[in-house]
Amino acid sequence: TRLKANSEGKLAKQICKVVLDHFEKQYSRELGDAWSTTRDILTSPSCWQYAVLFNRFNYPFELEKDLHLKGYHTLFQGSLPYCPESVKCYLSRTPDRMPSERHQMGILKKYYLLNAASLLPVLALELRDGEKVLDLCAAPGGKSVALLQCAYPGYLHCNESDSLRSRWLRQTLESFIPQPVVNVIKVSELDGREMGDAQPEIFDKVLVDAPCSNDRSWLFSSDSQKAACRISQRRKLPLLQIELLRSAVKALRPGGLLVYSTCTLSKAENQDVISEILNSYSNIMPVDIKGMAQTCSQDFTFAHTGQECGLLVIPDKGKAWGPMYVAKLKKLC
Ligand code: SAM
Repeated sequence: TRLKANSEGKLAKQICKVVLDHFEKQYSRELGDAWSTTRDILTSPSCWQYAVLFNRFNYPFELEKDLHLKGYHTLFQGSLPYCPESVKCYLSRTPDRMPSERHQMGILKKYYLLNAASLLPVLALELRDGEKVLDLCAAPGGKSVALLQCAYPGYLHCNESDSLRSRWLRQTLESFIPQPVVNVIKVSELDGREMGDAQPEIFDKVLVDAPCSNDRSWLFSSDSQKAACRISQRRKLPLLQIELLRSAVKALRPGGLLVYSTCTLSKAENQDVISEILNSYSNIMPVDIKGMAQTCSQDFTFAHTGQECGLLVIPDKGKAWGPMYVAKLKKLC
């Protein structure tokens, strides 16, 4: 990331102008009036917020008291139809960042810092004890860790095609999850597009947290030439996302649920991808998750335009979460 000293002499991230210009054209068209606030948040890292997801396997009781004193509140508790009590995620309305925990041999980490909107796809999956679940694009493992806060699956398969990132995924799992639970987890390094043929109709639940434009980090690319190159490569992403979803559909058992998520605002990678899947399968139906948006509108802002199916969380003042698109699909029996 490019760094520049700001007025306080601290190093600040620098915005990549080619990317911002590109977003400006696309997102002012796709999001309408909402884009200007979203742009202000995305371009101001000092406004970014970080949620604190507690680890049920090494619960931070002391930290919980501190966070209460600092004015943090819990996300979702009691408000969503599916939000297990074991999921404890704290957030503050003002930008505040807890330090990341250092790895200590033999001691499980107590909390994971995340964009609170990342919990929406995890909760939309409604994981129950004993179920078989696939996390198709799993590194660095934040959503796998969050899934294990919800329930004790009978089998969790975490897949990541990139070998370096797959190592990072293993480290995350080892830092948060105790050995007896790690024993029900399989980590693989397959191209996710092959998973459906390798394990057809095995899983009760599948999460496709797809590779995407990742708007927030792309905006702060350190190399503007590479960033410009990504603008043309970006057009290829929907095809990869569709192929990953086709593989996920194959891996899903009849009656099973699939959740698709991205961290981009781009319609081509969100709604258009889901429409393509719905148009090409007669046994895949969308599941309405609008109720989720109603129940958590205090903490998140959702886009109103262009979302026939799924939800799009857009960064807003005091609710800097997202971008996060979530769609839920069911495979009919
Ligand atoms: N779910 C992760 C989490 O919450 O920590 C983040 C996943 S990230 C958005 C998408 C991941 O998909 C990246 O780690 C990327 O390397 C991986 N990926 C890209 N192409 C893939 C493919 N063909 N098969 C499987 N994984 C892939």
